[in-house]
Amino acid sequence: MKRRNFLKKASATGFGLVAVSSTLISCDEVISSEKKIVTPILQPVRPLVIATWNTPLAVETAAKILQNGGSALDAVEQGCRVEEANEKGQSVGKGGLPDRDGNVTLDACIMDDKGNYGAVLGVKNIMHVISVARKVMEDTPHVMLVAEGAEQFAVSKGFKRENLLTAASKKKWEKWKVKAAYKPIINIENHDTIGMLAIDAKGNISGACTTSGLAYKLAGRVGDSPIIGGGLFVDNEIGGASATGLGEEVLKTVGSFLIVELMRQGKSPQEACEEAIGRIVNKPGKDFKNFQVGYIAVNKQGETGAYSIHEWFSYNLFKEGENKNIKSDYFNKK
Ligand code: ASP
Repeated sequence: MKRRNFLKKASATGFGLVAVSSTLISCDEVISSEKKIVTPILQPVRPLVIATWNTPLAVETAAKILQNGGSALDAVEQGCRVEEANEKGQSVGKGGLPDRDGNVTLDACIMDDKGNYGAVLGVKNIMHVISVARKVMEDTPHVMLVAEGAEQFAVSKGFKRENLLTAASKKKWEKWKVKAAYKPIINIENHDTIGMLAIDAKGNISGACTTSGLAYKLAGRVGDSPIIGGGLFVDNEIGGASATGLGEEVLKTVGSFLIVELMRQGKSPQEACEEAIGRIVNKPGKDFKNFQVGYIAVNKQGETGAYSIHEWFSYNLFKEGENKNIKSDYFNKK
């Protein structure tokens, strides 16, 4: 029986429909004629890509890989590389704003559907740190490499050293130096640090996250982005989550891990993102006016969620053949 006819018939006869989610694009109904019991077989939405901020090209790149039968892991790596190479983006890859000493240092991590994880922290002179993180995951017995060690490892794997500080970023840093106020700066309204989650045709989920971190941070500062459970977490049985914004706040609440665990307990991705933001803003006396945190999440069925503290967080979603930038719902509605 065709789904539409079945649905009509179901409502006319009053058969109960069980667990039909509004985000499902398809379901195969199995009808037992004897007992007239309906058991929809849930079909997850795939392929799917979701990424933080306004990152249409990165998401399109990832989606094409999935549409050609590629893995979620390849999709998130290649998608993130687009932002790393985009010199106009000043919070990721080449062109990222430097630390207070003028050094661009990058953080990245990647997680596959088998629960493997690789990360690099505080890396100078290498643009595609997401690919270095993947090499750490696949070619070493370790999960994290930092600073010079990570850079040397990258070079040994054929990555080329280059200056990541563009003229535009240098100019901004020089302007900042005039006052050199030490206040971690997070642009609440507009960003490009990218956290990306994808589901491939086989239904496997992977994720990646890459950033230059806070502008004008103290040398050596690392945020949430390369830390498992902070900027990214994937559990192929449940779903994945990724974060952007003030990494210190994400780390203190283990945000991405929290979201996946909340989904495991039955929350939708949207509910889980909202609760994770709640854990930050509902701390007694917490002054969240001057920082932003935004989360994205997806579950195994391809339902997605996003939530931030303030307005202006958006995400790109590729789903059912369309790639859209969507404004996230947010907590601080005045
Ligand atoms: N979460 C990143 C960090 O704290 C920055 C960002 O998303 O903009 O390093």
